[in-house]
Amino acid sequence: MGGDLYALDFDGVLCDSCGESSLSAVKAAKIRWPSLFDGVDSSLEEWIVDQMHTLRPVVETGYENLLLVRLLLELQMPSIRKSSVADGLTVEAILNNWSQLKPIIMKEWNEDRDALIDLFGRVRDDWMQNDLSGWISANRFYPGVADALRFASSQVYIVTTKQMFPFLFKFQSRFADALLRELAGVTIPSERIYGLGTGPKVEVLKKLQAMPEHDSLTLHFVEDRLATLKNVIKEPALDRWNLYLGRWGYNTEKERKEAQSISRIHMLDLPDFSKKLK
Ligand SMILES: [Mg+2]
Repeated sequence: MGGDLYALDFDGVLCDSCGESSLSAVKAAKIRWPSLFDGVDSSLEEWIVDQMHTLRPVVETGYENLLLVRLLLELQMPSIRKSSVADGLTVEAILNNWSQLKPIIMKEWNEDRDALIDLFGRVRDDWMQNDLSGWISANRFYPGVADALRFASSQVYIVTTKQMFPFLFKFQSRFADALLRELAGVTIPSERIYGLGTGPKVEVLKKLQAMPEHDSLTLHFVEDRLATLKNVIKEPALDRWNLYLGRWGYNTEKERKEAQSISRIHMLDLPDFSKKLK
């Protein structure tokens, strides 16, 4: 017996959906604040989508993408500024101070979290329903990951709280399969995908290690979000897990530095990740 079990985060480890979420956010922002986009040309829009890649590590929940789009617009267009923070603000400063900036702009823009979550979800749903192939192609798997999954000799589970999954499951989860199949050429049985609604990641990891068939396996958890790994470390019951932070995902230089100082966390590069799965 023996062997390895890999629990893998989806977004930021296997799949880069930043293009999709940024474009969805711009679509949603145009619906929510149409007048702000008067005089916004395609090059400014491209600049915004570009900056969204830099800012992706701060996004915890999808609707925050919408806030970032508007804040970036305020950065570039002083005439539409309604927040007190935009003056002199830089992309770098947003990256470093997002948790402080977010409540301020929410209040000053008079926005409601639930309404924005709802709008963001609807815009993505519409995109998927009207143009599924366009939606799929706005996502990409990281280089080498598709092959690594296809030829993996380890047991692979996907553990994600990704925003994508609530509405994927609304469509009977066949779109999760669609992304994996269309983009990666991989079929992962649905019972091996733990998405939103299956509980926090720490609970999923406990469930996986409690399965008798996993008793003799070495357990590995690969994640791109440092805060999530720290939550796992806090749980003594999860001491069996080897923990990895994927450098290629949505984390900042500062977070990678911090992770390096935590002995429980192994830093992982993309080529080594692919090799490990095989
Ligand atoms: Mg992730």
